[in-house]
Amino acid sequence: MRLILLGPPGAGKGTQAAVLSKDYSMPHISTGQILREAVEKKTSTGNTAKGFMDKGELVPDEIVSKMVAERLAEKDTKNGFILDGFPRNKNQAIQLDEQLKIINVKIDFVLYFKTSETTAIKRLTGRRVCPKCGLNYHTVNRPPKHDNACDMCRTLLIQRLDDNEETIRNRFKVYQDQTTPLLDYYSQTGYFKEICGDLGVNGLNKKLEELFKAEHIT
Ligand code: AMP
Repeated sequence: MRLILLGPPGAGKGTQAAVLSKDYSMPHISTGQILREAVEKKTSTGNTAKGFMDKGELVPDEIVSKMVAERLAEKDTKNGFILDGFPRNKNQAIQLDEQLKIINVKIDFVLYFKTSETTAIKRLTGRRVCPKCGLNYHTVNRPPKHDNACDMCRTLLIQRLDDNEETIRNRFKVYQDQTTPLLDYYSQTGYFKEICGDLGVNGLNKKLEELFKAEHIT
């Protein structure tokens, strides 16, 4: 299955992608996570990206689209993948379409997690992440089993630098201005599906399972 997850920051895309990736054995490709790893390693891409990410701005399209094209060329994407956080504007969507044509694959679903700003802000301000494996937690909705440590690898959880109030506000503005035009772009395709992103982790996952079942995807 080949999925694109669309929705504002805090819509639950990363959390659902992690669950689906495990359940359906397909790689979770999060451009945000790839960029954070590049920043951590201080690669030239990471050094360029950091300034944009710290402000909640989009990293230039040519950097991100190239990164995704390289990732999609890897063997593990052969039977499916989940794109989380890409594309983020119309230019990236066009570049992705061109890349998909080159590798001769089609997207099965663009899943739009329609989410209220109130829900999204609550999720982002309480979000904690594992800096090692990228797993997401929440201080209230999804606390780790052991005090502030990742359930999987026990690394101490952190709060993302861009999960502060000022940057969150800008990320929403960037989403409104640059990403929402993609709703028009994809809603004209037969594979666009809207899901209620305000549901909790399990509720949202259940909706997705129902959708896949209705579409005969197992
Ligand atoms: P995310 O983890 O998806 O919330 O992304 C975190 C940050 O990484 C964003 O605020 C952007 O600065 C950058 N980023 C992630 N994906 C993209 C993308 N497709 N295009 C441009 N910048 C991106």
